[in-house]
Formats: sequence, C-alpha cells, structure tokens
Amino acid sequence: MTLSHPTRREFFTYVGAVSAAPVFRAQAKDAHRWDASFDVVIVGSGAAGLSAALSAHEAGCRSILILEKMSFAGGASRISCGYFNAVDPQRQRAMHIEDSLELFEAQTIKSSHGKGSKELIHILCSQALDCLHWLEGYGVRYADNCSQIYGGMFPRGHIPLVQNPNESYIDILVERCLERGIEIQYSQSADEIIAENNCVLGVKTSNTSGPSGKKAKARFIRARKALILASGGFAANAALCEAHDVRLRGLETTNPPSSTGEVMLEAIAIGAYAAGCDYIECMPSPVRFSRFAVFTERMLFVDAKGRRFVREDEFRDVIRDKVLSLPDKRAYVIVDNDGYMQCPLAFRENAEEELKKQRVFRGSTIAELAEKLRIPAAVFVKTIKDYNESVSSGNDRQFGRGRESMRYAITQEPFWAASCDMAIHHTMGGLLIDRYCRVMNWEGAPIKGLFACGEVVGGIHGANRIGGNAITEAHVFGRIAGRSAVSGVSGDV
Ligand SMILES: Cc1cc2nc3c(=O)[nH]c(=O)nc-3n(C[C@H](O)[C@H](O)[C@H](O)COP(=O)(O)OP(=O)(O)OC[C@H]3O[C@@H](n4cnc5c(N)ncnc54)[C@H](O)[C@@H]3O)c2cc1C
Repeated sequence: MTLSHPTRREFFTYVGAVSAAPVFRAQAKDAHRWDASFDVVIVGSGAAGLSAALSAHEAGCRSILILEKMSFAGGASRISCGYFNAVDPQRQRAMHIEDSLELFEAQTIKSSHGKGSKELIHILCSQALDCLHWLEGYGVRYADNCSQIYGGMFPRGHIPLVQNPNESYIDILVERCLERGIEIQYSQSADEIIAENNCVLGVKTSNTSGPSGKKAKARFIRARKALILASGGFAANAALCEAHDVRLRGLETTNPPSSTGEVMLEAIAIGAYAAGCDYIECMPSPVRFSRFAVFTERMLFVDAKGRRFVREDEFRDVIRDKVLSLPDKRAYVIVDNDGYMQCPLAFRENAEEELKKQRVFRGSTIAELAEKLRIPAAVFVKTIKDYNESVSSGNDRQFGRGRESMRYAITQEPFWAASCDMAIHHTMGGLLIDRYCRVMNWEGAPIKGLFACGEVVGGIHGANRIGGNAITEAHVFGRIAGRSAVSGVSGDV
C-alpha cells in the first residue's frame, strides 16, 4: 500500500473502520463449524500476548493457544530495547535516586497531557515492580542499574540483559510458555472475530506461509472462555497513521512490518470502541538502530546549523513537533564515545554500517564531526562547550533541562552523530478497555469474552507516552488479561 495514494478500497478498509459509527459485521454462515477449540485464544506473541498466556496458565487454564501471523514470535517487543519503567527502591537507592509511586503516576498523567485514564495509569504504575519481579521469576534478567531513557522523564528504566545482539528476552518467555504446554501456532493470521449478540465466540484465521497470491484456507478457532487481543499497534500501517496525522506522510517506521493494526479494526467492526488513535509517537531515528537517543542523560540534539533547539528531556511529542517544524525536518543526535558505548551492542554494530550510508557520523574532534555533518564548526563547538558547562554547573540556562537528565558531559572522543529524522514509533490509540482488560463496546459495556492488552489498547498513555512505559504496560496488562480471562472479573486486579 502506498502512503500518499491509498486506493479507494484501502482507504475505506482502514479509515472507514475507525470512523465514529460502528460497523457490525455479518457473521459467516459456516462460522460455527469449528476446526479447533481452546479455552483461551490469544492473538499475538509479543510482550502482552506471552504475559497473558503465562498468567492464564497460572490461573489454572490448561488449554491456551497463541496465534502469531509471523513465522517467529515477538512482534515489536522482540526488536524493542525492552526498557521497563518501575519504581524500584532496591536498584534506585543504590544509585541515590529518590523515586516514588506518586511521582511515577503524576509524571505519567502529566505526560499524557491529562488524557490518559487515571485508573489505568494507577494500575500501570502500582503493579510495575511486582510485574518486573514476576518476569524475573520466569528467568528474565535486568541490569542492576536504572536509566532515564529517551522521553523517560525519570531514571527508572530497567534494562533487560541478553547474551548477544540477536537474542531477546522474549525468547525466554516463549520457552516458558512451551514448557507449560501453551501452544503457539506461527504463520496464523487472525482475520475475523466471530461474535454474536455482543459475545465473542472465536476467530477466523488463515495461514500466511503459503505462496503469495494464493488464497489460504480459512480455519475457525473456538475460544471457549476468552479471546485476548495482543496484536500490537499500527505504526507500520502508513495509510492508517497518515489518516490520523497527516504530518506523518512519508515517514519511515521503527516497527516491524507486523504492526499493521488489522485486529484492532476487526474488533471495531464487531462493535468495540477505540480511543486516541490520533496520538502517534515518533522517534528520532530513520531506521531502527542508527540512533543514539537512547539515554537522555548522555545525549544532545542540534539542528542543521549546529544549535540546540529543544530540551532533550522534553516529552516525546514536544520533540517530535520541534523536529517536524525544522527546515527539511532535519536534526542530529550527538553523543560522545562514552554515550555511544552505553548504546545496545546491536545499535553499535549497526552504526558501523550506517557510517558508510552517511546516516551516522564520527569525528575525532567536535570540529571534525561538524565538518562531516556540514554544519558550521564554530557554532557547533560553542554549543558543545556551553552544554558541558551546563552539566558542570547543573544549570541549563538555555533550555532548563533537568539536572538529573544531563549527568554526563560530551568530552570523550570520538564524537558521534546520527541523523534523527522522525520515524513513526508507537500508536497510543486503540481499543478501550476497563481495569480487567475487557474490551468495551461503543455503548460503554464490555463485549463478553473479549479482552485486550498491550499496544492494541488505547486510552492509557493519552496524547504522549513516557519512554519505557509501553513495555511495562504490555506486561502489566497482559498479566491482568490472562488472569481475568480465566478467573472472571469479580476479584481485585
Ligand atoms: C525499535 C523499538 C524499540 C522500542 N523500545 C521500547 C522500550 O525500550 N521500552 C518501551 O516501553 N517500549 C519500547 N517500544 C515500544 C514497545 O516495544 C511496544 O509498545 C510493545 O512491545 C508492544 O507489545 P505488544 O505485545 O502489545 O505488541 P507486539 O510486540 O508488536 O506483538 C504483537 C504481535 O501480534 C502479532 N499480530 C498482529 N496482527 C496479527 C494477526 N492478525 N494475527 C496474528 N498475529 C498478529 C504480531 O505479528 C506481533 O508478533 C519500542 C518499540 C520499537 C519498535
């Protein structure tokens, strides 16, 4: 699908489905000839789906199926850095960081521009640490220190540890699922939700591994207790993103091709309500790896004239808007070699490649880096000097950046820059849920048997998401969805 010229059919497929009036899909006549039957069926094997599966298993369910349209697990979660925000006295105090749940919650509400659900934000923040320990119990390991990741607002990001750059902590969760007899079917796309009278019965699927152009045979899977949608966001659906924010036309995405949002649209087609789809986050990175805007405390943004133009610890939407309003939407993120060495190994390996494509630049001095970037050296050298003075004094007179988010001066050669054109990164909008992860219909009532968690959900992050809160959200609400699906919703979450 092309972004700038979606066909009429594409337009109505994607845009019609998110318009205000719900479209009730007529059910296929043969919908009840089930090919297979499970108690709980989960769509998607990312952070949310795997957490939902493990939690459903803990709640006693022994008949769980995960449908995954790709030939491997993980979606955006697999390629994400996995930084997980949680107030963690043990790790943070060792670093002399004073944090609190009240601060975490207040920052998340403020960052949402007051548009995120306070109830769901409370659940997100208050259950984060317990959820982190839960993941540790399944074998996921986190570094001993916390960091303030880009757009993170506070140093409470937990960094998952992996052995090598091609590995993901997602692999550990997949293994735990398989050990427990949770079935994962790959190359199985959930195409339609089968529902009757506001009650979900199952899902129609097709095999995505066959030869392209050949119509795959449909299968009908019964979800006896619950269907859990954990299918991720729509950041890789260019037409849908553009329909919600025209400024995003032509931007690349950091997401895998699986983040297309068709499951959200399917849920809307059976009467679910979606919230906040206009709120789409961008990252300073044309491609997934070649960016150094990882840890705020170590980096700096400059425009094409070598001047700072924004507080680097600002909300992500503020930085997005500033970059999109620069001439040619062009800016650079700068780190010194210490900052570079903090970036994940996969990023560094990719940076070497990107040096050749001139999307990453390296200079043994600031002036040499300026020359490579073709920006005025004198201005750039002064920018770095002024910034380093701000770090020493703890006072950023130019932009008022917080002391804790500028803890490291830019001094160690070589110096690195990456172009930071904006790329579509995260979709804050999605299905409206209640505290039990039940999907709400357009009348405000839960749709029976339908649950959702992770990026397919909307209304939690409001208009802007705190960096590191998406992974927390996917796991926290995945865990709740699995429990609610099996145990019902009368107990406390
Ligand atoms: C490069 C990158 C880095 C990031 N870093 C961070 C970070 O450090 N911290 C943070 O908080 N957030 C981060 N994010 C955001 C975060 O990773 C995502 O919001 C989160 O992983 C979403 O998890 P999920 O389980 O909801 O969706 P996903 O992980 O995307 O999983 C959804 C799964 O559903 C499958 N699926 C979709 N449609 C269908 C269908 N029709 N049938 C069957 N299967 C289907 C997909 O193939 C996919 O496997 C990052 C995102 C990216 C792209």
